[in-house]
Amino acid sequence: MTDNPCLTCGACCAYFRVSMYWGETSAHPNGTVPEHLTEPINPHYVAMRGTHTTQGAAKRCIALRGNVGEQTSCEIYAHRSSTCASVHAGDSQCAKARAAHHLPPIFNP
Ligand code: SF4
Ligand code: SF4
Repeated sequence: MTDNPCLTCGACCAYFRVSMYWGETSAHPNGTVPEHLTEPINPHYVAMRGTHTTQGAAKRCIALRGNVGEQTSCEIYAHRSSTCASVHAGDSQCAKARAAHHLPPIFNP
């Protein structure tokens, strides 16, 4: 059993447009995010597929596995973007995403 609330959530991966500088992708020698899991937004930025053009309930990162609010994981966790890593359980972004999925906010994770 784990105390990590993200493993039974995944709401932020199915709510926000997850964008990043293209240099974070494998298209750059120092990038980590698999390029084929992203799509371009403009000449400088890309987004995780499934989070850019899709809206509402269909918005969901291509790398997210499992069911939101039940059991979830990121298939590229070790290679995820700085954007992904900037959201923390219990912060305001987390609360916004969880509310959109009818999940209660997290306090003191
Ligand atoms: S940061 Fe918050 S919204 Fe994102 S997966 Fe973790 S608990 Fe859920
Ligand atoms: S790459 Fe992973 S952490 Fe980032 S939005 Fe997608 S599933 Fe979530």
